[in-house]
Amino acid sequence: MAKKVLVFGEVRQGELRNVSFEAIAAAKQIASGGEVVGLLLGKEAESLANTMIQYGADRMVIAEHHDLESYTSDAYSQAIMQVILQEKPEGFILGHTSIGKDISPRVAAKLRAGLISDAINIEVNVDQVSFTRPIYAGKAFEKKVITDGMVFATIRPNNIQSLEKDESRFGEIASVNVEIKDLRTIVKDVVRKATSGVDLSEAKIIVSGGRGVKSKEGFKPLQELAELLGGAVGASRGACDADYCDYSLQIGQTGKVVTPDLYIACGISGAIQHIAGMSNAKVIVAINKDPEANIFSIADYGIVGDLFEVIPLLIEEFKSVAVY
Ligand code: FAD
Repeated sequence: MAKKVLVFGEVRQGELRNVSFEAIAAAKQIASGGEVVGLLLGKEAESLANTMIQYGADRMVIAEHHDLESYTSDAYSQAIMQVILQEKPEGFILGHTSIGKDISPRVAAKLRAGLISDAINIEVNVDQVSFTRPIYAGKAFEKKVITDGMVFATIRPNNIQSLEKDESRFGEIASVNVEIKDLRTIVKDVVRKATSGVDLSEAKIIVSGGRGVKSKEGFKPLQELAELLGGAVGASRGACDADYCDYSLQIGQTGKVVTPDLYIACGISGAIQHIAGMSNAKVIVAINKDPEANIFSIADYGIVGDLFEVIPLLIEEFKSVAVY
């Protein structure tokens, strides 16, 4: 049966995150020929609304209240609830990002709806929507079927293919007035960490360093390799704890969960907590001087050797073929 599905567009530093487009593709599948309505909140909503339509949303609802300029779960959940009550969608899809993880349980509780979080695949069979999601830190997968009520889910970035951008698509963009009251948190200032290059959680290629990198300086060849490949640098908690890099780079159970096309693990032993964050990468390459290191058990390609000898060779080789 055709459904109306609402999709939350997530904006970061003035740009829509790719997972918003992946969420539109997921919503299209669930809508089964019904309507996909995009939702954008905050000051960039109007300028970005058309992009969501070009990626497949049929129409957009935007709200630009001044309390929505910076994300707070308090203000955003009030705005989202008002749009849901007005639109009455049969589905609601968000990215499984920091914001998605924060806002979705709050909205689900208010709606008294079930929530499926961190879905990596969706199947629609007649009227039944089923979601696949990793459990036990990625060691197993479970399939959840929604048989009743709202189809409410967060999707893991980089798992569901977004649709091709079609610049000829157009649709209605409706601005709604939302009432925001009794805020318990007000953001006065946002101080961003200075980061450059590709966003780690959406990167297609990640070069990740562990305690084997040995120092802050030791991360330089990894950075060079990542830049050459158009990728991002990640790290194990071992490297972060040793202060070789910032915790914002940590991948794993208590860090970021990533699904790149290529993950190059350098000097990382492959502890279960690290694997939980990267085991779904499409191709895993491990560089480690210990042939018994656990990371080799999940790697597609293993290089037993000193990373400080192997990485410069890879850089030299990639420069000579200049594929990227
Ligand atoms: P190590 O285990 O010390 O491994 C270093 C590796 O480098 C070794 O295999 C060694 O052979 C290799 N090496 C050394 N020198 C070289 C060289 N020159 N060339 C090539 N290889 C070399 N960890 C995470 O990563 N992410 C998490 O989110 C996370 N969450 C956790 C949550 C909890 C509750 C707990 C208890 C732990 C968590 N950990 C997490 C920590 C995890 O258990 C490991 O301690 C950590 O992943 C180890 O990091 P590492 O592989 O860099 O270091």
